Amino acid sequence: MDSLKKRAALGLLGSLLSLQLLVWAERQPSQSAEQASAPKTLFSQSAIRILDHEFQDSGISYLLFDAETRVLLSSRWEDAGRPIALGSLVKPFTALAYAEAHNFQYPTHICKGETSGCWQIHPHGELDIVSATALSCNSYFRALAASLNGEQLVPTANAFGLDPPSPELTGDSLMGLGEQWVVSPLHMARAYLELYRRREQPGVGELLRGMAQSARHGTGAGVGRALRHTDTLVKTGTAPCTHIHPAPADGFVVALVPADRPEILLMIRVHGVAGAKAAVTAGRILKRMEE
Ligand SMILES: [Zn+2]
Repeated sequence: MDSLKKRAALGLLGSLLSLQLLVWAERQPSQSAEQASAPKTLFSQSAIRILDHEFQDSGISYLLFDAETRVLLSSRWEDAGRPIALGSLVKPFTALAYAEAHNFQYPTHICKGETSGCWQIHPHGELDIVSATALSCNSYFRALAASLNGEQLVPTANAFGLDPPSPELTGDSLMGLGEQWVVSPLHMARAYLELYRRREQPGVGELLRGMAQSARHGTGAGVGRALRHTDTLVKTGTAPCTHIHPAPADGFVVALVPADRPEILLMIRVHGVAGAKAAVTAGRILKRMEE
């Protein structure tokens, strides 16, 4: 039953994908007559209406990619090429730089909550890289980044197409705190597609398992709760707001759907909320796409 539902969900996501491709194609001057006259199904028409409705909110920015071709299918994100702070979205790449320097062995760490520098008041307790990624534990990643400098992160950033941190940067700035390491949202979205492409490489599987766990019961649970029959890979982030009317922070979410063979990558930014809350919005959007 579940697998049937899942297949139906995938089919619908696929329809959405073709729909977005069609929309994208229609914006291109070189469109063929065939593309221009391709009939839209009732489903695709309603998906367009739903998307338009969901994304009318000026507080939501989004990038939608075809996960296989890496083509940007649809977007509404002003200056998506301009580097900004993206908070914890950098954590998997920081972790990989650490892994490179430590024979691909990730540490375990005991989070004592706020007293050990976590965003959560209550302790996360003992964590490995998988649970630390799922919970986006700042205490874990502070400890991990403490032994790194910006220079060590440059090769990883280059490999994934991320804007690199300055070589002399150290400590918390390297795991997404503050505004010193800035990355273009377009580059970040593509870096996650690259992360998935490298899923068989050392150190990557743990991070993807952490993203799967995030969707189930971590900071990305807003996505997992909404898409009950489709596993997803999710990473959230919270960073200082860069909007004209500033809020204390903006929430970011990267979601690869479905988890076992991603068809789409949705990256969103929600004005004025934390990453976990933005995941609820991402879940709502993906759920409508699935319906
Ligand atoms: Zn923690």
